[in-house]
Amino acid sequence: MSSRQALDVVALPMGEFTFGPDDPWPGQTGVVVAYAVRSSGGVFLFDTGFAARSEELDEFYATYDVRPQALPEVLAVAGIDLGEITAVANCHLHLDHCGQNALFPNRPIYVQPAEWSAAHEPDYTYLHAIDFPGACYEQVAGDHEVAPGIRIFATPGHSPGHQSLVVDSPDGPLLLVGQAIYSHGEWAGIPNPREGGSRSADIPAYRRSVKRLRALNPKRVLFGHDRRPWTR
Ligand SMILES: [Zn+2]
Ligand SMILES: [Zn+2]
Repeated sequence: MSSRQALDVVALPMGEFTFGPDDPWPGQTGVVVAYAVRSSGGVFLFDTGFAARSEELDEFYATYDVRPQALPEVLAVAGIDLGEITAVANCHLHLDHCGQNALFPNRPIYVQPAEWSAAHEPDYTYLHAIDFPGACYEQVAGDHEVAPGIRIFATPGHSPGHQSLVVDSPDGPLLLVGQAIYSHGEWAGIPNPREGGSRSADIPAYRRSVKRLRALNPKRVLFGHDRRPWTR
């Protein structure tokens, strides 16, 4: 059965940054993690990390001491060729999650329409990263299957069109939650974790999305800003 095929999820370390003085954890290191889901049909990519350095990003990158990783190199370390990527989804369109989308012309990139609209408002993101020649965005609202055993799951809250990825496995779903939940500690309920709910764009929506994710009773949860996975 196609939905029960072995789907291998590989974490892709896309770089680090340092929280600024006005951030909740000033001076501490933050990480950005993308994921590749391998199946017999190819590799589905969830997020593309920070954009490469550029003059326009200089000030922002200096403020947060952003240390981006180049996706082709990160993929090579994981034994994946850029050409094997059949489709991409961004959890949302802030520049730490979609920075290298331009590596994928003529390949479907799934985003929620609400996120696409938000991204084209002033000061939301770095538009050069998402508007590029050959860009092929598939704007689909809500939950939907994108490949056998791989489903987009709408999780608004951190941003208007945030989405997660649900990957089937024989002993329960694997959730790639992007920034719908900030950290392992937030999911696990440890005291004073790095959490994203209190600073999200829509706090009630964030809480509803967390509830929906919990109701899936996952086997494993992987985060966009925490290298440590949670396992049941
Ligand atoms: Zn964000
Ligand atoms: Zn982020």
